[in-house]
Amino acid sequence: MCEGRIHSTESFGSVDGPGVRFLIFLQGCRLRCRYCHNADTWLTDGGVLMSADELLDKAERCRPYWGKTGGITVSGGEPLLQIDFLLDLFRKAKRRGINTCIDTAGQPFTREEPFFSKFEELCTLCDLFLVDIKHIDPAAHKSLTGAFNGNILDMLRYLSDIGKPVWIRHVLVPGVTDDDEALRKTREFIDTLKNVEKIEVLPYHSMGAYKWKELGLSYALEGTQPPAADRIKNANDILNGLI
Ligand code: SF4
Repeated sequence: MCEGRIHSTESFGSVDGPGVRFLIFLQGCRLRCRYCHNADTWLTDGGVLMSADELLDKAERCRPYWGKTGGITVSGGEPLLQIDFLLDLFRKAKRRGINTCIDTAGQPFTREEPFFSKFEELCTLCDLFLVDIKHIDPAAHKSLTGAFNGNILDMLRYLSDIGKPVWIRHVLVPGVTDDDEALRKTREFIDTLKNVEKIEVLPYHSMGAYKWKELGLSYALEGTQPPAADRIKNANDILNGLI
């Protein structure tokens, strides 16, 4: 039996995909985003082991609240790091008629095997991808997250080629991810994709800073304030092609 490393679950998510959703946070992430509010999900050997059926039984207790659009969203951490478990979970979810969504930063994506064949199958089982574009510029992405973004953008191109629905999300951090030129380049990239159903700006907040301190780390964005309302509107307007 395949088991996943689970950080936590939430019964009633309302912002990570359509409708009311049962959220599953998988343990483990190789990025180190300076604004990460889930630093306690980073270690790949943490979390608790659970089977797909255990999770789905738990999720289905909330099914009466899902209506026609709800379901499950798997987030993290980085869910694609546990792609074997994700496949097992989504195969079983589809047998139960459950709507499935993945919230990913795309960092493990590669067109090389054995990952790519697994990802191809995952796409047949996942109804919607929520994908972060953390920064469009490779060097700025590396400075922000510790890794370049070429494979992440390539994953978005692949999802476009196969017509898989995607929502794009961008965390807006003053002085880090909010300059107009980068936002316009992000929009230019989005214009090359055929499958984007929604673009969301997520305003930075520091509510996860205490987790860095609990891990004995100094918080990378100490003193950074949330973006002002006019900057949020500006980013929303640029990314949605309105200005
Ligand atoms: S990808 Fe998500 S979980 Fe990983 S470091 Fe970035 S914000 Fe944190």
